[in-house]
Amino acid sequence: MPDTQFLNQIIKDWNECEIEFRGIFHTHAAQWPELSNSDRIYIIEILKAMPSYIQNLYFPLIFPGEKIKAYCARKNGNVISIVDENIDIIKKREEMRDERNE
Ligand SMILES: [Zn+2]
Repeated sequence: MPDTQFLNQIIKDWNECEIEFRGIFHTHAAQWPELSNSDRIYIIEILKAMPSYIQNLYFPLIFPGEKIKAYCARKNGNVISIVDENIDIIKKREEMRDERNE
């Protein structure tokens, strides 16, 4: 269960630094390849609590050492849907250089 009080404080701190909240990632073991029901309920609650100008948030699932699967929660009027989202992983310049030198 997420620590709501802690997360709210982080979001407040970011706001003061003009860092906009765009979502939360969390990790799953490989045997749980999808968002759980409680993940979905929590994601919907988060998006409902956001100011109205925020219409979508991103919730990537990290499978450590394997892959990232991304989801987008979208608000359409009063309806919130959670859909698969294609993402591109952008490598840092140093990582690309390291790979070329291997
Ligand atoms: Zn989960």
